[in-house]
Amino acid sequence: MYWEKEVETMDRSALAGLQLGRLNESLTRARGSAFYGKRFAGGASSEGAQPAYAGTPAQPGGYAGTPAKPAGSSIELSGLEELTDLPFTTKDDLRNAFPYGFLTVDLQEVIRLHSSSGTTGNPTVVFHTPRDIDHWGNLIARCMYTTGVRKQDVFQNMMGYGLFTGGLGFHYGAEKLGVMTIPIGPGNSKRQIWFLKHLKATVIHILPSYALRLYSFFEEMQLDPKKDLHLRIAFIGAEPHSEEIRRKIEELYGIKVYNSYGLSEMCGPGVAFECECQVGLHVWEDHFYPEIIDPVSGEVLPEGERGELVLTTLTREAMPLIRYRTRDLTRFLPGECPCGRTHRRIDRITGRSDDMLIINGVNIFPIQIEKTLMAIPEIGRNYLIEINKENFMDRLSVKVEINEEVFHGTLAELEKLQIKAVAALRAELGVTPNVKLVEPSSLPVSEGKVRRVYDYRGGEQGGL
Ligand code: AMP
Ligand code: ZN
Repeated sequence: MYWEKEVETMDRSALAGLQLGRLNESLTRARGSAFYGKRFAGGASSEGAQPAYAGTPAQPGGYAGTPAKPAGSSIELSGLEELTDLPFTTKDDLRNAFPYGFLTVDLQEVIRLHSSSGTTGNPTVVFHTPRDIDHWGNLIARCMYTTGVRKQDVFQNMMGYGLFTGGLGFHYGAEKLGVMTIPIGPGNSKRQIWFLKHLKATVIHILPSYALRLYSFFEEMQLDPKKDLHLRIAFIGAEPHSEEIRRKIEELYGIKVYNSYGLSEMCGPGVAFECECQVGLHVWEDHFYPEIIDPVSGEVLPEGERGELVLTTLTREAMPLIRYRTRDLTRFLPGECPCGRTHRRIDRITGRSDDMLIINGVNIFPIQIEKTLMAIPEIGRNYLIEINKENFMDRLSVKVEINEEVFHGTLAELEKLQIKAVAALRAELGVTPNVKLVEPSSLPVSEGKVRRVYDYRGGEQGGL
């Protein structure tokens, strides 16, 4: 039942002791980076709490590969609660310190880089040492083992391999567990089904939206996953989804489905995971220290209140992050979990405190769409973004006015312009949107704050 019984069931006071020791090590290590070296130059004082690079424009390549050495007085916290005196780290901090500002080791110690989708301007990159990769793999093995995956299982990993952490993260974890892994990645549904059937996969890792979409291929092929496959377990994550969606996937496939949460900045998946009880996600507190804050005031909220999850890495070597604002909204669940694990549980993520959109697992900021459209001279300034559910998948649509001062073309040229806009957006976002070009001045204008995003996935009807 437990991959690492001692640490998973450690009593809370021993766990707090472990966390405090690791937190102090992380703070010392963090000060070896250019970013935290500067931020904590005067110790953990309020002066040090000023954002180190506020107002400094991002300079790609502005940070050398050699980390700064820790300087000045050290930061030694005598209790976990003192962490709240330290400032937050944000995605903008990561962007501004691109590429090496958070690195605490020589580049030659680094063996892996991952990057999150949905970044504007500089991407955010995350580096890993061999030990980081080892810890990450171990955490995934812990998650998989917790839900009953064993060596004799066959694991088909339908998450993207590459910069995205979903594919490789689970791959290494499954191998650590000793499970045969089929690194198929997403898409190509008929081939997925062929592998599922003939290699007798028992465990899958899949986007919830794709799990639902894949089912329609089973119907088309007149197969019933309940009868024609050997599936037992699915891990779903990378995008918000409801309890109803989980139950629906469980019903359609006749399997158990577990929620997997993570983000590239921490490692990727493996940060928080549902156990066999399926009542909230255990945050692996021996590796991450979680807090829930009010996203507006930044104050830590009383236990149980919903707010933004803030995470501090406790064991990361190449790139420790202190009080990282995830922007994900959740709450701590009260009480103990019947599974006997003592690590606190969070509720499923219900949304984000920023404007990031997640389209079939890919993170997108509306500003990326704006920037791409505005770089095309024949396109005007007013646009609308709509997101719908179509056959269980997210569908991104963009309505944009043409610029009549530049565009005087024929219908055929209009079509070409539309194709050009789709290609430019696809290159920027990594997803293919629907683009509809409309007459100048035909989209609504507002005197106040303009509303550009209409997300109909919650049930409201919409469509271009
Ligand atoms: P990335 O860094 O590209 O892997 O994206 C991480 C983001 O994906 C998180 O900050 C969440 O917003 C979202 N995400 C990941 N896992 C889940 C999950 N299980 N439920 C809801 N959202 C998730
Ligand atoms: Zn549990």
